[in-house]
Amino acid sequence: MTSTTDTQTAGSDRGKDASSESRTYGNFINGTWVSRDELIDRYNPATGELVARFADGTAADVHRAVAAARKAFDTGPWSQTSGAERGELLYRIAERIEAQVERLAHIEVQETGKTIRVARGDLAGVVSHFKNAAGLAWQTTGESLENLGPTLTAVNVREPVGVTGLVIPWNFPALILAQKLPYALAAGCTAVVKPAETTSGTACEIARICEEAGLPAGVLNVVTGYGPTAGQALTEHHGVDYVSFTGSTASGRKVIEASKSNLKRLALELGGKAATVVFADADLDDAADAALFAITFNQGECCVSGTRLLIDDTVADEFLTELVRRAEKLIVGDPMDDATDVGALIHSQHLDQVLSFIKQGVDGGAKLLTGGERLTDGVHANGQFVAPTVFDHVDPNAAIFQQEIFGPVLSVTRFHNEDEAIALANDSIYGLANSVWTKNIDTAHRVSRALRSGTVWVNTTIDGSAQLPLGGYKQSGYGREGGKHGLEEFTNIKSIQTRIGKRRHAYPHTRGPVA
Ligand code: NDP
Repeated sequence: MTSTTDTQTAGSDRGKDASSESRTYGNFINGTWVSRDELIDRYNPATGELVARFADGTAADVHRAVAAARKAFDTGPWSQTSGAERGELLYRIAERIEAQVERLAHIEVQETGKTIRVARGDLAGVVSHFKNAAGLAWQTTGESLENLGPTLTAVNVREPVGVTGLVIPWNFPALILAQKLPYALAAGCTAVVKPAETTSGTACEIARICEEAGLPAGVLNVVTGYGPTAGQALTEHHGVDYVSFTGSTASGRKVIEASKSNLKRLALELGGKAATVVFADADLDDAADAALFAITFNQGECCVSGTRLLIDDTVADEFLTELVRRAEKLIVGDPMDDATDVGALIHSQHLDQVLSFIKQGVDGGAKLLTGGERLTDGVHANGQFVAPTVFDHVDPNAAIFQQEIFGPVLSVTRFHNEDEAIALANDSIYGLANSVWTKNIDTAHRVSRALRSGTVWVNTTIDGSAQLPLGGYKQSGYGREGGKHGLEEFTNIKSIQTRIGKRRHAYPHTRGPVA
């Protein structure tokens, strides 16, 4: 049952240490916090403690949120404001988020199990995206065409696409929200956000910050709850013009089905299986650090994790000895400890899935070099921790080479020449990102161009800036997030064509004496 009282729950712990108690959040609809009796409990994946309770949003809640977003777009002021006004408000929001980075990072750690170091980096990224979108709001505009001959002139007007549905996963709850929301707002769109049911805290907190910064009611709405109920209701809703979804390829297919109801436009950022391709002439010290970072960053729960290491056979033994030595020095444990390198996995079903991939690796004959087990002693006793795991001699047909694991599990396969390295890297249904390690500029350019992925890093990994687009080739999805391409996703182009002077008639023979 839904209570319509304005509970202000998202703001109830304002100013308090986020770690001191659990937080309860309502849905944010049309500028009002709406509580629900049915709540989803969230337990810290590192400690098992209750940390948050989210409204179990229903299709009716989604309907109310879409109606509010529709009204705010169709008749409200937001889509009619100037780019400068939107930019100024987005910058104010960025500054308010920046002032609360530490508190928001703590919430992110409690709900996701990620380390505080990663969470702080995520929140810095959130601030950058809001600032970048603020700048783009000032600049983004259409174009005029004056070269159409003396009597025709045209303007291609860039208009906001309308009401957007933003579906957010649990691995980077604040950062992925920030890859979408500020760009949608900068374009003049309104939004209904559906965060993952496990990690909705920062979406609610950012909504509260937007509200306090002066974003008009209805422009941003947040409905928490489960994917098959709230998420499905949002993606199939006729009042939604555009859905930006990040999550699994399986759920992405459901979103495509749901979008058919009104042929809404989609951007899908789905799974990945990135390769780290290391040539013999690379800086092997840098490459070893990066290969380890690429698979353990955010516990490997990252769509661009470097989950496959492709290594030149001539340096493989020496490289892997060093990689394993470093992997065994990583600190897996308390995510709130600044010294911790690897935190806890999101929930127990996901832990089971990661362990099942590890078992498949062992059963399939890959050579386990390190890790391969759940950690349960001491600080790990009440959480979902997995030791960083490295498999060598992985067959390219094996599940651990082909499927997205989303855990700290690295599959190593050796290559003997450049063509084989490219073929192995491209041997995937996914195409989100890859990284190439070489000091030969020709190899770097040749291989970068041959790789079928939306991002290629050269001598770096999981890098970037808010100005750069993120998105997939193949079954990693379509559409781009971030930067000017990300903003343009949230627009439509309308061509307005004007004939100068009297138009040449199509039917001159029909003219009468009164013309
Ligand atoms: P999902 O794709 O199910 O979840 C992503 C988001 O989509 C969540 O907000 C979820 O809601 C929502 N959702 C789920 N079903 C629907 C639906 N039918 N319609 C609309 N929205 C929906 O990912 P999982 O949490 O199940 O993770 C499974 C696997 O997906 C992971 O192991 C990983 O391999 C991959 N993944 C990839 C991500 C990426 O960044 N590309 C991010 C997360 C997962 P809710 O969670 O509340 O049910």
